[in-house]
Amino acid sequence: MLTRGGFRHGVHPEERKELTHALPIRRMPFPDEVVLPLRQHAGKPAKVRVKVGDHVERGDKVADADGFVSVPIHASAAGRVVDIDWAPHIDGTMAMAVRIKLDPHAMHVPRPRLVPRWEGLTPEQVIQAVQDAGVVGMGGAAFPTHVKLAPPKDVTIHTLIINGAECEPYLTSDHRTMVEYPARVLFGVRVIMHTLGVQKAVIGVERNKPDAIAALTAALPKDLDLTVLPLTVKYPQGAEKMLIHAVTGQEVPSGKLPASVGVVVQNVGSAAAIAEVFETGLPLIERIVTVSGEGIRKPANLIVPVGTRLIDLLDYCGGLTDDAAEVIVGGPMMGLAQGNLEAPVTKGTTGVVVLTREQTRQPEVYPCIGCGRCLEACPVFLNPSELGQLAQLQRYDEMEPMHLADCMICGSCSYVCPSNIPLAQLFSFSKLALRRRKAAAS
Ligand code: SF4
Ligand code: SF4
Repeated sequence: MLTRGGFRHGVHPEERKELTHALPIRRMPFPDEVVLPLRQHAGKPAKVRVKVGDHVERGDKVADADGFVSVPIHASAAGRVVDIDWAPHIDGTMAMAVRIKLDPHAMHVPRPRLVPRWEGLTPEQVIQAVQDAGVVGMGGAAFPTHVKLAPPKDVTIHTLIINGAECEPYLTSDHRTMVEYPARVLFGVRVIMHTLGVQKAVIGVERNKPDAIAALTAALPKDLDLTVLPLTVKYPQGAEKMLIHAVTGQEVPSGKLPASVGVVVQNVGSAAAIAEVFETGLPLIERIVTVSGEGIRKPANLIVPVGTRLIDLLDYCGGLTDDAAEVIVGGPMMGLAQGNLEAPVTKGTTGVVVLTREQTRQPEVYPCIGCGRCLEACPVFLNPSELGQLAQLQRYDEMEPMHLADCMICGSCSYVCPSNIPLAQLFSFSKLALRRRKAAAS
């Protein structure tokens, strides 16, 4: 049975948010250099427009959007372009990137710029301004925000949902944003509502953030149909389809986007980023990152220039503890373990979590005992047990009709499996194998 403020299945991993949830957001000092990958968002990577030797000011464009599902990249600090080459990326690959050596004497004050007055703009002009500012989904997926502001013409959007669930363990960047900048979030929501032409918006926040719920509620404007909805604390509450379920009771059909049920979802951080564009005229050049976990000496919530290398960020947080074993970008459920700390923070980097040897000890894997716990956990009602067996036999083609595409790699099934079968990892690999097979066949 569906309830508002909840969804069926899911899991309850240890939250561990207490390490950072009360730590106010601070600004990290500028590092010596920033590395700006051209591929920081879903869609087409940006096209470089600077050359080695160029001087750039903070906020200058270093790469242009390459099409509609693409955004430009801007310099997050003043300095000189010293390299445009392949560099480590947090997704584990190498990506073309612009490396900027920062000017040690620069004040990093952006050039004066025009601040667009959103009230006078048409939705199309707002969408263009948001694209020009390089805004992407700040909750981790990094889908270009302006694309979500332009849903297909044949659908009517009735509700905007703002995602303040932040259900991943350890992460508190959205939490702190809601507590410290409620007016900015709500201003962003107003701009989004104007652009989409929707009359109703709901901000979904998990109940484990009462101060965020209170701060937003106190700042709610009287002239908008805008509410804050406390949600049950459950993982993966922040997944788009789960959130829509929880807030509206609607189910987004398999393979469809939220717009198909009249809903657009934007992250709290994305709303704040949109607000900044219309408050300061500045593009997206920095973001709030939670640095947490038992393996880091000084956990923090920091405003970090995009392009800051992980090693510089971790050093600023006191460095790794002696028993640190794994650095993860994102949360421990869906994040990516890092093999190279030279990789930089990108626009979608919500957090960096460092786990200890004890926490990352690989438990022994046993055969499936058919207990069904993974079926109980899967929020999209897949059969992880059967899918896992097919994946182990590399029978990937048979996984497609079993809706492998709907798997969000949320890790809920792996989390509950008493046999320690790395189900989500198997599904991630199966998706990649299927993509490769299809590419080879075409
Ligand atoms: S990883 Fe995929 S199969 Fe496992 S619980 Fe999440 S959505 Fe279901
Ligand atoms: S939870 Fe693990 S052991 Fe139980 S049915 Fe699923 S895969 Fe098998």
